[in-house]
Amino acid sequence: MSTIAADEKRILDEVERGFDEEIAFLQDVVRCPSVRGAEHTVQDYVFNALAERGYDMDRWRVAEADIKDHPGFSPIAVSYENAWVVVGTHRPKATKGRSLIMNAHIDVVPPGPTDMWTHPPYDPVIRDGWMYGRGAADMKAGLAANIFALDAINRAGFEPAATIHVQSVPEEESTGNGTLATSVRGYRADAAICPEPTHGRLTHANVGVVWFSVRVYGRPAHAREMQAGVNAIDAAYKVISALRVLEEELNVEAAQHPLFKDLVHPINLNIGQIEGGDWNSTVPASCTVHCRLSMLPGTPASDLKRRIEQTISEFSRRTPGSGNTPPEIKWTGFSCEGFVLEPGSDAEKTLAGAHEAIHGSPLERQVMPAYLDARVTILYDKIPTLVYGPGGRNIHSIDEALELKTVMEATKSIALFTARWCGLAPLKTA
Ligand code: ZN
Repeated sequence: MSTIAADEKRILDEVERGFDEEIAFLQDVVRCPSVRGAEHTVQDYVFNALAERGYDMDRWRVAEADIKDHPGFSPIAVSYENAWVVVGTHRPKATKGRSLIMNAHIDVVPPGPTDMWTHPPYDPVIRDGWMYGRGAADMKAGLAANIFALDAINRAGFEPAATIHVQSVPEEESTGNGTLATSVRGYRADAAICPEPTHGRLTHANVGVVWFSVRVYGRPAHAREMQAGVNAIDAAYKVISALRVLEEELNVEAAQHPLFKDLVHPINLNIGQIEGGDWNSTVPASCTVHCRLSMLPGTPASDLKRRIEQTISEFSRRTPGSGNTPPEIKWTGFSCEGFVLEPGSDAEKTLAGAHEAIHGSPLERQVMPAYLDARVTILYDKIPTLVYGPGGRNIHSIDEALELKTVMEATKSIALFTARWCGLAPLKTA
């Protein structure tokens, strides 16, 4: 169905009319530096924005005790003091359509060296149709699209005729425990949409991700008698090489996977941080490397962890004199399986119709070799989850930017999808 009914046309017109306000909202949200451990200010802002609109509000802090027994739980290595989840719920006068979860994460990855940015990372400058700023694309624009799609429906004189939970979650960039907490709290729906920056394509599969650190021990000595010691930093290089061999094995396996075989090197080991040694003239006693490794969907995280452990223990056996203490592995975040969205769902068909009506071209599918929170709703709650949103560039890099035209398109597609999925009723008056 790629034609647009008159009621729907009014909704799309309202998306356009509300677009300046949507962008202003997004700029306010980008100004909150919601890196891990500092998600509270943006969540306060989002809470107020949803409360003002009359949603039923729920706000709580992610607590290890609540989620640790869930099979999708990831180990927690930082304080959750500011890890607030916000959910605003629309409850219709009468339910006629199907319910919906609109999910977005508000945590962002650190900006990196700020002197490498053209503008400060939390200053949402707009230039030539792009908004710059950490988190603008990944994925605060998606949060804005969810909220303003619903606003447009209301402004056109309607309310969705089914329950909608608008979720704003922390911890997507490190554990997935924010969306997991919404599941444990009991949020369910007939479909979910998560507007990650997918450039208007539907992401129908992703990889699982594990975070870990390896601490390698050496034997300190004065640099003048370096041969008497064991250099932990040199040893860490060798550990990394051993992990690179595992990475290549995993990519050989990926070349057989029906959804991942056409991607170049979909399984990536990233050495994200390294720390070691304490003095230029001392052979370092220890070195820690912090790693991220992915795996094909269908592989439990425990399988990948076992292979990492085997790799490290084989390395220790093969490398005599690598210090007297074997390397120590710690699981420091993501412990998450990948997902594959069941094809042919009504939710996907409804989105495809809405997308085609807005873009004039069919909805394309893609796989994403990165972590996505949709694994919670798809794997554990069996909710068809549509990862679909606007387009950006330099995600997790310097000068992250969001193409504003794609925000308009995504907001329209989401509004139309929601109208068709949930149904429309005349707006209730207070
Ligand atoms: Zn994201």
